[in-house]
Amino acid sequence: MNVLPWQQSQWTRVLDAHHNGRLPHALLLTGPDGAGLGEFAALLAGALLCRQSSPSRPHCGSCRDCVLVQAGNHPDILRVRPEEPGKQIRVEEIRDLLEFMHLTSQSGRHKIAIISPAEAMNKSASNTLLKTLEEPPAGSLLILCCHAPGQLPVTVRSRCQRLDFPGDSGHATCRWLERKLGVDPDLAAALLRRAGGAPFRAMALAECDALAKQNELLGDLCQLRQGHRDPVAMARRWAGFGFPAVLVWLLEILRSITVRKVTVSGSADLYNENGHLQQIADELDLMQLVTAYDVAARNYQGATGPHNLNKLGLLEEFIVYWQSTASTGRR
Ligand SMILES: [Zn+2]
Repeated sequence: MNVLPWQQSQWTRVLDAHHNGRLPHALLLTGPDGAGLGEFAALLAGALLCRQSSPSRPHCGSCRDCVLVQAGNHPDILRVRPEEPGKQIRVEEIRDLLEFMHLTSQSGRHKIAIISPAEAMNKSASNTLLKTLEEPPAGSLLILCCHAPGQLPVTVRSRCQRLDFPGDSGHATCRWLERKLGVDPDLAAALLRRAGGAPFRAMALAECDALAKQNELLGDLCQLRQGHRDPVAMARRWAGFGFPAVLVWLLEILRSITVRKVTVSGSADLYNENGHLQQIADELDLMQLVTAYDVAARNYQGATGPHNLNKLGLLEEFIVYWQSTASTGRR
């Protein structure tokens, strides 16, 4: 396990605090999905439990604790996550966490709990967590990984030391992605840009050939404005891009068009490689764009929320709406 290139400064900060005896009882790691918050938390937990850890070498890799950490079953680390992605973290899981934190450390060092994503905690789970944040047992460390800190109660946020991981598209991160994917520097940079500087998200985009599909989506939005496309056939093709990805991309593209509409040319070049984005931004007015975004956002909620509406139908609805906007928006 190595420190990821875009997490170096945060790593140095936390390790310095640890070696100076100033590590807090609760850390709130914030950053976009795909920034590697979970990887950072795991690396930190490993460094705190390694028997031969030093500032220059956080993990020895061979002590009993390192071996257990690498195998993913160290008894002093507890991971709390929703049963399924997108579901809530319930109060029962946080009660188990409290119990775990009060047990004696097997390694005689720390008890570490990693909650990810922390914003998945429901209200009673957060309230229960507050108890341990207010009176943390000695040697305990809570690591909250969070992509939407605004969704956490202020009472929880204010009791954690926050460590931000903003998106990063720097040279070292691009090089890391190039090596991971075996792609050329231009493609790595394009993927990273589309992923908002979140490298693991960039990897996921590469795996599903997202760049080409997103460009196709944007090209279709442009073509729909000519009015000659069949909404049903197009919805079927879009559905083939996969759910909920296609709806997320649609929202991102519409947001980018809106940003392009209200900012100076060149300040938002995401998705605009072939000029389609600029073309739509020029042809529609701001109200039409905002309304289209609202329709897409409602369809996203319909497809991913508890009602689980017919996804193909939602795509058709958006396409028909976009066509009608196009026919009234031409100027
Ligand atoms: Zn070790």
